Parts: sequence; structure tokens; C-alpha cells
Amino acid sequence: MEAILKRFDLVVVGAGIGGGSLVYNLRKQGFTGSILVVDRGDAVATGPTAFSAGGFRNLWTTPINQQLCTKAIGILKGFQDEMGVAIGFHQCGYLVTYYAKSWAKIPQAAEIWAANGVNFELLDPAQIETRIPGLQCGVAHIDPDVCEYLGFEAIVGGVLGQDCGSFDPSQAAVAYFERARNDFAQQLVLQLKTEVQAVTFDVSGRATGLRLKAAHGPEETVAAGIVALCSGPWTNELLQRSGLPEADLMPIISQKRMMFITDFPDQDPRWQAIPLTIIDQGIYFKHESGHLMIGKAKGDAPDSFDTTFEPQYYIEEVNQVMQERIPSTAVCKLKSGWASLYDTTAPDHNAIVGWHENHPGLLLQVGYSGHGAMESPAVGIGLAELVLTGNYQSVDCHPLRWGRFREGDLNVEKIVI
Ligand SMILES: Cc1cc2nc3c(=O)[nH]c(=O)nc-3n(C[C@H](O)[C@H](O)[C@H](O)COP(=O)(O)OP(=O)(O)OC[C@H]3O[C@@H](n4cnc5c(N)ncnc54)[C@H](O)[C@@H]3O)c2cc1C
Repeated sequence: MEAILKRFDLVVVGAGIGGGSLVYNLRKQGFTGSILVVDRGDAVATGPTAFSAGGFRNLWTTPINQQLCTKAIGILKGFQDEMGVAIGFHQCGYLVTYYAKSWAKIPQAAEIWAANGVNFELLDPAQIETRIPGLQCGVAHIDPDVCEYLGFEAIVGGVLGQDCGSFDPSQAAVAYFERARNDFAQQLVLQLKTEVQAVTFDVSGRATGLRLKAAHGPEETVAAGIVALCSGPWTNELLQRSGLPEADLMPIISQKRMMFITDFPDQDPRWQAIPLTIIDQGIYFKHESGHLMIGKAKGDAPDSFDTTFEPQYYIEEVNQVMQERIPSTAVCKLKSGWASLYDTTAPDHNAIVGWHENHPGLLLQVGYSGHGAMESPAVGIGLAELVLTGNYQSVDCHPLRWGRFREGDLNVEKIVI
């Protein structure tokens, strides 16, 4: 039996950092309508937001990512002052290391970085080795067969993003929702433990609301002026269930990503101050509360909702590779870890942001491809501007519109991990 119809001016699917940033910034910019946020989790930020490495960087190859992240870094830096909540903001830097062929392209990239407010320093191999204890930029220490098999080359340089670092996205998400709910007179309802079964559309294709099923309640239909999807890897599944044709879906796949926690390899105090560093085969590591947090994407990760943690992957593939570049890490035994999901936008590895051009009233903030924790604080501001004024005022997110795929106007991001 369907319950009585409720109506909200805005309904949001997803209580992660993206949904939080959207509702807080809407309220802050003066949105006075009623808001309902729905999530199947039993708390705010139980999805990928909770499992993020929390890295932020403005070292990207696409100007839109450079601009969004430069803006976001400023927001994260001032977060505690504005929101009254500490989010573990730590500007430890980001160090991206390069082989010769990619390094040759850096002068060109550097011009674009400078134009988009990216602070960076170029490091030579000796400087890299000073910052990361035990790292050897050359390959003379590696068995030539192993070197060839792994595709290793000498690291000839690195770019250190001085403004980059890491933070706690879950804390930020909680703060966004609490402030949006408590600081403004207008109604914000947070409905957890509730599955969004479908987005409803009228005959013209306009989004009109949601069909919901609470864990212990009846099905209900909620009408809405705007339906905002901040639903991460589950977005297409939801839209398919809602009856959208294939052509109107998102080119998003859901991919497992794992994080591994180990001890430091030795007592060298420099480990406490390492930048988040990216080395061979996209292995990245950072300092995390006296430990190393290590990640490496599985190149062949299928489109799946599987989140089974695989300790063997660390032992057989991540550590095997890492110890060739940093021999001391051979002793880094796995202490813990987890798996969650990337919502990867397959054609260009960038988010899909703004109105769905074929479905008025459907607002998108999805497909973050592994960089949503750092970008959503700026995207939430932009989307609030779009809703309230009809245009982006701060960072122009037009390059991230859904329509770019059918227009063939992709924004291919090359530094993805
Ligand atoms: C291992 C890992 C490491 C990462 N590292 C970084 C990093 O260093 N830096 C960075 O910027 N990003 C990183 N990310 C990506 C980042 O975590 C995400 O881009 C970001 O959290 C997206 O937030 P979101 O609010 O858009 O969505 P999510 O956190 O994905 O939340 C979506 C929410 O929607 C809810 N939902 C979806 N469908 C339904 C439905 N039908 N009914 C009810 N509820 C629904 C889910 O329950 C979920 O809570 C990482 C991700 C992973 C997995």
C-alpha cells in the first residue's frame, strides 16, 4: 500500500560528502525550500566517502580539475573556521614521480598549472630520494629481468604540489549535514535506512520525485521540484530501475578500490612528513596516523559492486612492486585495509555535474572517478549557484555536463590513480 504523497522542493539521493556539500551550500546561498536527503545507510557517509584516502591535489591535467581543486583546497583549509569542525586537514604535499617520456611533457603542463593557481616545485631524483626514505630513483639495483617484467624505468623527476595533502571526508560530510540542518530555519529532513527504489518522471521526461522504501516502513512516493543524484556508483542502477533509456544513463562503471595499512618500514623520522607520493604503476602512499596507507588500482577491475577485501593483492602485487622501488618496504606487513567502490566515468575519468539535459529537474553530481572527496566541496558551491541563479558563478563546471558524451566533447584526465 502506498502512503500519502509528501512534497519537498529538493530531494537528494546520497548522504555522502557530495550530498552534504550540496545541501549546506544551497542553504548558505539562500535556498529556502524544503529539503529531503535519503540514504540506505544507517548514518551519514557510510558509502565510499567513508573509505576514501582523503587525498586532495590540484595537480591534474585538465583545467577544470585544477580549478575545482584549487578552489576546494581553500575551502578545506578554512573548513574548521567556517564549520567549527576539525577535518584532519594536512597540507603534506603531493609528489608525482615521472619516467623520461612523461617528464618531457612537464614544461607544457607547468604553464597550464601556473595559469590555474597550482603551486608546484620540480624535484630532481636526489631531492626525491631525500624526501622518501629508502626510495631509489634509478633501476641499477633491480634485477634486469624483473625490471623489464614490471615495466620499470628510472624516475627522472617529480612534481611536488605544495598546496596538496589529505583530510577526513567523513568528518566533512557529517559537518555539512549538521550545519545544514541546525543553522537554518528551513526544514531539512535526513531519512536514513531508506532505499530509493526509483526516480519518478512525468510524460515529458521531467523528474518529479522519488519512490522510497524505508527499512521497516511502507513504500511511499515523494514529490519534488528538483531531484539531485549524489548517489555514487549506484546511479545507473537506480536510473535503469526508474525506466530511463540506455541513451540517458551515465557512462559510469563501478570499480573496486582497496586501501592497505602497514607499519613504516623503519624508524626514519622522515616517514612522518612524507608527501602523498605516486610511484611506479600508480602505487600511492601517504602517512596515516603513524602508519603507511597504500593504494594501487587493479587495472582490470570489472564493473561490479563487489567490495571483498583482498589481502593477497597487497602481498602479491602491491608490495612486490613497491619493494623494488623502495627496498626497505619489503618488511611492511599488512595490518589492515578495506575495499570500496569508485564510480568511474569510463570515457574521461571526470565527474558528471549539472542538469541532465534530457530530464529537466534532474541534477547530477556523480561519476567522480576517485576524486569526489576533494572536488565536492567546490562542486557543491557551483551547483548551488546553478540552482539559485541559473549559472555557475565561481568555477564554471560546464565542461563536466552530462551532454559532453553525446557531443564528443570529453575532458580526459590523465593523472588518475
Ligand atoms: C578506496 C578509495 C579511495 C579514495 N580516495 C580518494 C582520495 O584520496 N581523494 C578523493 O577526492 N576521493 C577519493 N575517493 C573517492 C571519493 O571517496 C568519492 O568520490 C566521494 O566520496 C564521493 O562522494 P559522494 O557523496 O558523491 O558519494 P558516495 O560516498 O559514493 O555516497 C553515495 C551515497 O548514495 C547512497 N545511495 C546510492 N544509491 C542509493 C539508493 N538507491 N537508495 C539509497 N541510498 C543510495 C549510498 O548509500 C551512499 O551513501 C576514494 C574512493 C575509494 C573507494
